[in-house]
Amino acid sequence: MKVLFLAAEAAPFVKVGGLGDVAGSLPRALAALGHDVRLMIPGYGAIDWARFRPRPAGAFEVPHASGAQAGRIWETESDVPVWLLTGPPIPTDGGVYSASIAEDARKFLFFSLGALAASRALGFRPDVVHANDWHTGPAVYRLATARGSDPFFRDTASLYTIHNLPYTGRGAGAYLAEYALATMPALALLPEWARDSMLGLGLVTADVITTVSPTYAREIQTPQGGHGLDAMLRLRGDRLHGVLNGIDVGSWDPATDPALAERFDSTTLERRAENRTALTDEAGLDADPNAFLLGMVSRLDSQKGFDVALPALSRWLESGGQLVVLGSGDPTIERGLADLELRFPGRASVRLRFDPQYSRRIYGGADGILIPSRYEPCGLTQMLAMRYGAVPIARRTGGLADTIVDVGDPGGTGVLFDGYDPVSLAHALERALRVYAHRQSWIELQRRGMETDFSWNRSAAEYQALFREALKYRGGAAGGSSESGEDAGGHPRGR
Ligand code: ADP
Repeated sequence: MKVLFLAAEAAPFVKVGGLGDVAGSLPRALAALGHDVRLMIPGYGAIDWARFRPRPAGAFEVPHASGAQAGRIWETESDVPVWLLTGPPIPTDGGVYSASIAEDARKFLFFSLGALAASRALGFRPDVVHANDWHTGPAVYRLATARGSDPFFRDTASLYTIHNLPYTGRGAGAYLAEYALATMPALALLPEWARDSMLGLGLVTADVITTVSPTYAREIQTPQGGHGLDAMLRLRGDRLHGVLNGIDVGSWDPATDPALAERFDSTTLERRAENRTALTDEAGLDADPNAFLLGMVSRLDSQKGFDVALPALSRWLESGGQLVVLGSGDPTIERGLADLELRFPGRASVRLRFDPQYSRRIYGGADGILIPSRYEPCGLTQMLAMRYGAVPIARRTGGLADTIVDVGDPGGTGVLFDGYDPVSLAHALERALRVYAHRQSWIELQRRGMETDFSWNRSAAEYQALFREALKYRGGAAGGSSESGEDAGGHPRGR
């Protein structure tokens, strides 16, 4: 199949968060299955153009109320051919995302519509457009509304992946009009507040919708997890699937990772102690081989559970545990963590920065990694931790529930807890300590985590099956409605 993969960011070109990891590694896994996959991202100035040396590959135009906007296509490659799109709304300075919906809506409308125009200009007729998150919703929408009368895209299906539901690109209405995107009656399925969201455009019109874990796929169809979109997602429930993200097991391998003081695998776990010592040194913690060294590597965001973690961590440190934190983000959370470090010198170490190399040393040296997320679409941290022999202690939500087996169950790989409160978290830490006291059980827990297959292989095969399903819907129930508003196919099928 010919697949056009659209994302706002992709490693190694530009990475802000987990989306960049996925867009950097899933296209390669799909190509390994024999598909012709092309990755398209905005050609930001933030990309290192001198390093990747993109070559001019063509031009396209995006209609706009003030006159057509001219775009250019640049070609480079990582594991698959990569196209970068430039044009007036794409920033040439260091920026990727901005705080302004006006700026981001125009940027990603231009990119979404430009992606289809560029694909046509290049003569690349995709079987499937795989679009990701709110930034590319308009591409899905445009495809669904135009393909009935557009021979080039007549046979193209769409698969739309939600990486984090609350990010909707809301408030884009005025800019949709600038880009001549008429709204279709099916948008009435969305709550009123979401009708001008770029995510909404994609959710209503995608042939197949996926999100990044089976549990999150269920959670977003409930009022608790649906962020106001659950009723609409239930209506599209027969098109909605959960496919777990993988990790790049080549780059994340404790047997070869140059960032570690000592390399090891599941058969040489005893060598890992060296990394633990190096980590406590680097973090400025007391050498205390008997203490449990708990790590956290996280964006500091309300999603990640620091409001319940901070009180529990205070008690953890009072009772002799140690803590090493790497994260950046919300200044209030940063202050709370800095305060812990001040109160517990030698026991708590907090580094408020983004530092991929240090994160590897935390995964490779800490005893456990705490992930108390309020919600977690998939989560990569727990998989990286397990691969590096750090036992995850995590809330049973979203992808955490799908990738960690609780120590109380056969084949346990971590410690899970349910309640979103400091007491439930503290109980989970106590359970971890009890297992930790039985060295052999702990080592088995570490080994099983290390030996779990978190590669992309299985997920890529699942996407392949869903591409085939999406192809069945072309011109069918989800798409095919005309821009004039006839709702022939624009209506998602109910259950
Ligand atoms: P999210 O995408 O919601 O931030 P994920 O668990 O899916 O959460 O992905 C987080 C990724 O970012 C992981 O690879 C994690 O190691 C990395 N990460 C988070 N914070 C930092 C940091 N301060 N420094 C380095 N890497 C970080």
